[in-house]
Amino acid sequence: MTFPVVGMVGGGQLARMTHEAGIPLGLRFKLLSDTPQDSAAQVVGDVVVGDYRDLETLRGFAQGCDVITFDHEHVPTEHLRALEADGIPVRPGPDALVHAQDKGVMRARLTEIGVPCPRHRIVTGPEDVVRFAEEGEGFPVVLKTVRGGYDGKGVWIVRSAEEAGELFLDGQSRAGVPILAEEKVDFVRELAANVVRSPHGQAVAYPVVESVQADGVCDMVIAPAPGLSEELSFQAQELALRVAKELGVVGHLAVELFETNVGGTPGLVVNELAMRPHNSGHWTQDGAVTSQFANHVRAVLDLPLGDPRPRAPWTVMANVLGGDYPDMYSAYLHCMARDPQLKIHMYGKDVKPGRKVGHVNTYGDDLADVRERARHAADYLRGTIVE
Ligand code: ADP
Repeated sequence: MTFPVVGMVGGGQLARMTHEAGIPLGLRFKLLSDTPQDSAAQVVGDVVVGDYRDLETLRGFAQGCDVITFDHEHVPTEHLRALEADGIPVRPGPDALVHAQDKGVMRARLTEIGVPCPRHRIVTGPEDVVRFAEEGEGFPVVLKTVRGGYDGKGVWIVRSAEEAGELFLDGQSRAGVPILAEEKVDFVRELAANVVRSPHGQAVAYPVVESVQADGVCDMVIAPAPGLSEELSFQAQELALRVAKELGVVGHLAVELFETNVGGTPGLVVNELAMRPHNSGHWTQDGAVTSQFANHVRAVLDLPLGDPRPRAPWTVMANVLGGDYPDMYSAYLHCMARDPQLKIHMYGKDVKPGRKVGHVNTYGDDLADVRERARHAADYLRGTIVE
């Protein structure tokens, strides 16, 4: 067998779908998963169950892998450096990945290279948060743990010194990691600019998308972002390509953006970076010539990248959350019969209320229709529509 072995750290749905994209290429996958039941562990043949925070586990796992890539950003940076020192290609490498792991490092570096960010500063206690607020527009202020947050966990909007005080104890952050304060950006909507970059420096940019959030979690993604001017769309793509290049990213990079409208002038501010396939790129599975997963795999193997262009004028992705009714499969009958063009992607997770268990993609010429079909399917699968 001459086909390379891709080592994937993390057994979530992103690993599952990256594996799926590697199958037509005949690639072999090895997975490091927390449990044998994780989303990707259910489908990958070669699974090592272990803790990614343990260096010896990582070293054992890396044996026989031609390259290591990730489903999440939580592997300690120093372990990645140790793997590199052992001669194992880690993609993205630790020097790039640290910007997706640590929001403080990310803000400092982006500011250095002239990428627009919210006003920010690491804060050491409630008085410091008050000082930060007074230096700008005052409260509210957004506080974030620099590491370990996801889906809005680790993000707080505080309106007073008392509220800020709840995050600190005896001059220390209760979360055990530094706290970053940010001005609360008055944004019009959230966008994402997704790009993929390979070690030999080739890069592709997907159309800029709108990410519609509900309760701090991405609910729906519309590709391309409706009504976005060509100028702003180009700016967002250029910004994401520049970040990928300057930070030395290999693989998929999602740049989450706020679209602002200060004094009637549209603008962009970076929220955060993800260096792996991303929820805002799931639409590409059915809506682009080459999906984010296929291009991520190509990039980590340093193969030429595939065409990122859309296949249809509009593609909409809606996340499917679990509802009170656990038997989602019984909803397939209705969804498939109603919409033969609907694409369902399930992650093999137990259905629990509010848990992200899959997504659907719809595409077509008419945005209102495409959007309605995605909304209907996601709601029906959740069990919130009874027809
Ligand atoms: P996570 O890492 O958990 O995804 P984010 O940094 O993306 O956290 O923040 C989650 C959500 O909080 C964002 O999608 C946005 O809606 C809101 N948010 C984060 N930072 C700011 C900010 N500086 N101003 C306004 N809203 C923000």
